[in-house]
Amino acid sequence: MQILWPYVDGEVGEFFYARYAHPVVAEAEAALGELDHGTAVLFPSGTGAATALALSLLQPGDTIALAAGAYFGTGRLFEALAKWGLAHVEFDQTGPPPGDVQLVWLEAPSNPFLTMPDLESALAHPAPVVVDTTVATPIAYRPLEQGADYTLHSATKYLGGHDDVLLGAVVCREAAAAEELRTFRGRTGISPAPEPAALLHRSLRTLEVRVQRQVSSAVDIAERLRGHPKVETVRYPGIGGLISFDVADGDAARRVETSTRLVVNATSLGSVTSLIEGRHRWEGDRVPAGLLRLSVGLEDPDAIWADLAQALDRA
Ligand code: PLP
Repeated sequence: MQILWPYVDGEVGEFFYARYAHPVVAEAEAALGELDHGTAVLFPSGTGAATALALSLLQPGDTIALAAGAYFGTGRLFEALAKWGLAHVEFDQTGPPPGDVQLVWLEAPSNPFLTMPDLESALAHPAPVVVDTTVATPIAYRPLEQGADYTLHSATKYLGGHDDVLLGAVVCREAAAAEELRTFRGRTGISPAPEPAALLHRSLRTLEVRVQRQVSSAVDIAERLRGHPKVETVRYPGIGGLISFDVADGDAARRVETSTRLVVNATSLGSVTSLIEGRHRWEGDRVPAGLLRLSVGLEDPDAIWADLAQALDRA
């Protein structure tokens, strides 16, 4: 894949240097923007996208209102940015955000608590609103249409969908905001490589059928989990292919995650392959010790359930 683009008749073209723009990246951005109804800007990871967005929008002294129970790494990122004068407060995203903040950061649905935000209340706040829709995907939820300013995606998950891409994206409601973010991206060098962008573009072609299958299987499996005697709580909002559920304690969760055969015991989510893991190892007491996160893949739902059921018998 070419990264060097010669001048044409001595004139600088659109793709003069890959850190600023690359045609393969631009094509993938156009496809994602169309799906999410906005203008997409790609980054090397979801976390890179979050870093670039926060740093480009905010200044020292500003505060981010972050949905409580959102992806653990987002809170960790904001903690790391504290020494540059950016503060964050957590709030219950099922209600309105706190008053004196300069950015509202929602997650739909949150990972791993699977709450959906009260978008209307967030939009009534004067600060810009970001919605991390990694888990919902643009197939199920497009908050830009309702007035949110930005969606954020870990494209590493459902958008890439095959556990072979590390990439992130911000999709902007306003084209001018995307242009500012692109300028910031080029200057800071938080720029995506063209190879993962090509894989993303390939994967977007099957996103809809993948997500439809993952959601219909997740609805079915959530229902079966609710009826299982070893399962105490099931969290599933009916959007996306991610479920979290609790067994009695940490030891029971470990027995379950180490007893599955078809469902792979690994972190990440959104893949064609079903994945399960206890989240306590990463998130500590922020989550119940017995919480298991299940990302439903494309396998036969009866086979996924049969595997889970035999693992749950050991809980
Ligand atoms: N947002 C959500 C909801 C996530 O689950 C993740 C990763 O798990 C991220 C953002 C960060 O994405 P990445 O791992 O691509 O940096």
